[in-house]
Amino acid sequence: MDGIQLLKSQRALVTGASSGIGKAIALGLAKAGAKVIVNYRAGGEKAALVVDEIYDVGGEALAIQADVSSEHEVQEMFRQAVEAWGSIDILVNNAGVQVDAPFHEMTLEQWNTALAVDLTGHFLCSREAVKEFKRRGIVPELSRALGKIIAISSVHDTIPWAGHANYTAAKGGVKMLMKSIAQELAPEGIRVNAVSPGAIKTDINKSVWGNPEGMEGLLKLIPAGRIGEVEDIAKAVVWLASDEADYMTGETLYLDGGMMLYPSFRTGG
Ligand code: NAD
Repeated sequence: MDGIQLLKSQRALVTGASSGIGKAIALGLAKAGAKVIVNYRAGGEKAALVVDEIYDVGGEALAIQADVSSEHEVQEMFRQAVEAWGSIDILVNNAGVQVDAPFHEMTLEQWNTALAVDLTGHFLCSREAVKEFKRRGIVPELSRALGKIIAISSVHDTIPWAGHANYTAAKGGVKMLMKSIAQELAPEGIRVNAVSPGAIKTDINKSVWGNPEGMEGLLKLIPAGRIGEVEDIAKAVVWLASDEADYMTGETLYLDGGMMLYPSFRTGG
């Protein structure tokens, strides 16, 4: 365990935590003292490795399978989590997919798949988390908040993205879902925020950074001159989940090396 334990004894659930950003968030929360549910949809071996890594750093974790787009699987996951650890204090909605296609060729199935995971998944998990926060009541020795929800959105909740209309529609929806429930739940002490990554080196975008031309094109979009690392996101999530961010709700942290700064205007315009 390193550093101050900002999240000591809190119980976190991270969706899609067997790879990429979700895995780094699970590890980051564990290092900050939280017990972590490592949710995965398929491939229990990878989730088990994340659980092992968390125990290796002195943390505590449990893998639970569930498809975040399935109402009954999400409800069953929360039932198992509460049975195991008594409650949940932090939810990180990280699971996501890209199902890309030119707009005129996009099938209804491609549209529905992206919306189901990237937006409905946030709704289903957040609703179960809020029910659980309210059932449990405040535990002042754990946190000033009744509960914390963090949405992993994207710079594409704001930047349009050709060929990805379903993904951007879902992420734009996540932004307003986050803000609306933050407004609704703030009086009860539930904080809801988002982290919107720019380009982070994970499997989801390997086809871009995995070849020199792709990486060169990508770096033109990032004023900071580097692709993001998963830890860049995990550190912000730990802070947002902690009482250090107690006065923050309904906000989005864009962690993007400046991608939102219209980089082409540095030399043009
Ligand atoms: P990733 O593919 O490694 O992670 C996505 C995870 O979600 C995987 O573990 C996958 O198995 C899981 N998942 C997919 N469908 C699921 C379902 N129905 N139920 C449960 N889990 C499911 O990619 P990543 O880059 O780590 O993506 C994590 C999040 O970050 C996503 O929401 C993505 O949109 C967002 N994001 C990533 C980037 C980036 O550059 N990598 C940028 C902006 C936003």
